[in-house]
Amino acid sequence: MNFQPKASHFIDGQYVEDESGTPIEVIYPATGELIAKLHSATPQILEKALQSAQAAQKSWAALTGTERGRVLRRAADMIRAQNYDLSVIETHDTGKPIQETTVADANSGADALEYFGGLAGSLTGEHIPLGRGDFVYTIREALGLCVGIGAWNYPTLIACWKAAPALACGNTMVFKPSELTPLSVLKIAEILIEAGLPSGVFNVVQGYGDVGATLVTDPRVAKVSLTGSAATGRKVYAAAAAGMKHVTMELGGKSPLIIFDDADLDNAVSGAILGNFFSSGQVCSNGTRVFVQRGIKAAFLNRLKERLTTVQIGDPMDSKTNFGPLVSKRQLDIVESYIAKGIVEGARLVSGGKSLPGPGFYMEPTVFADVRDEMTIAIEEIFGPVMSVLDFESEEEVIVRANATDFGLAAGVFTNNLVRAHRVASKLQAGSCYINTYNMAPVEAPFGGSKLSGVGRENSKLAINHFSEMKSVYVSMNDVEAPY
Ligand code: NAD
Repeated sequence: MNFQPKASHFIDGQYVEDESGTPIEVIYPATGELIAKLHSATPQILEKALQSAQAAQKSWAALTGTERGRVLRRAADMIRAQNYDLSVIETHDTGKPIQETTVADANSGADALEYFGGLAGSLTGEHIPLGRGDFVYTIREALGLCVGIGAWNYPTLIACWKAAPALACGNTMVFKPSELTPLSVLKIAEILIEAGLPSGVFNVVQGYGDVGATLVTDPRVAKVSLTGSAATGRKVYAAAAAGMKHVTMELGGKSPLIIFDDADLDNAVSGAILGNFFSSGQVCSNGTRVFVQRGIKAAFLNRLKERLTTVQIGDPMDSKTNFGPLVSKRQLDIVESYIAKGIVEGARLVSGGKSLPGPGFYMEPTVFADVRDEMTIAIEEIFGPVMSVLDFESEEEVIVRANATDFGLAAGVFTNNLVRAHRVASKLQAGSCYINTYNMAPVEAPFGGSKLSGVGRENSKLAINHFSEMKSVYVSMNDVEAPY
């Protein structure tokens, strides 16, 4: 398959190139091979994208919600029909196994387009009676031109999670994917046009952080939605604040997964595996601090080790492979350095810990036991396949320790005690909590973080409020009383 796109950017319904932009080399993480060469957006390209998104916005917003929704739902159907081809691109962009991408990525993107396409026709304001016949009505208005900036772990999903609610509300978007994974979103832009989206409503520009930063500060931009690290989030949020722009920040995490001794052990082990090793650990909401009640520690670790012997690491295009490489050599180096720190700081390596000889950026699924709260691997987001297992005695103790983090993206609890499950979930400081499962992200449910993990929510009806604002119109049915 040829992964070289027709051009780097997709603006005003067409592929556009400007070869004077900084080169972006797309590397297949499984082999280290160069599979495509693109260029970062130049000021001329950015101007073209912003102008076309601005020009398209009023007429897009003037359509009925049902008309906008029809386009999004048609695009969802087309994405589903092309799921395998899109998954092959996603696998080459990210290195994630085809077994995963055919289920998780384009499918989740299609869900978002279908869900928000379905909602578009029912977006309304309200009527507020005020007495003496006076009333206020509210008009739900689009924000205008929105910017989406993506991380590299879920390029298709992130683009669709941002574009679907934005477009449903009548906004237009300029989207910049991560420089590491620029390919798949170009296909989404193509599909949207084929589905009937007017030119200029969804545009893709490529680039590094500087391109993102330029977009965020442009005065024409009304809203910025970022998925990325907390460090980038701080910069983007601050830059957006200068122009008083709306923001959604989907940032990193160091989420706790609490396993009580009355839990179903196999389910708990499955939850810990899903919450640490899916996408080779490159998932923001991963439950990387696994708190296991002391009584079941040995049984938990034994079962986990047994299960890990069946991992299929290898060629991501082989449908039997369920564990692929990390996205880049740089990410592999970062993960290796955390593993070295874990060992130096006294954690006990139970499983994995080694990178595989090249080519490709493979790291074994790694488990540390006897991890203590103050160790670096228990504090910092690693964004790789490294699980830290920590012991605990009591519910009170584990809640305090689970919450003792700057992040607040997700949290999970495994227990068969119904009352305890809900009590613990109510006390965990996290945007998404799971009881007896982990890392589910259906489009119907809000997703997002508290504390340093972010601001705002994606998915669900709540996302509508982050891509629209209410105008209130006071209507007087009476004479105006003035004091003089
Ligand atoms: P990153 O912060 O390095 O980059 C994210 C995006 O921001 C990229 O497109 C990058 O080019 C751009 N960028 C960098 N500097 C910028 C600046 N100053 N202004 C504007 N844009 C800028 O993150 P990453 O390494 O691509 O992704 C991994 C991180 O993303 C992890 O921390 C992970 O937890 C987080 N993440 C969060 C979610 C979520 O939904 N909460 C989902 C996936 C990933």
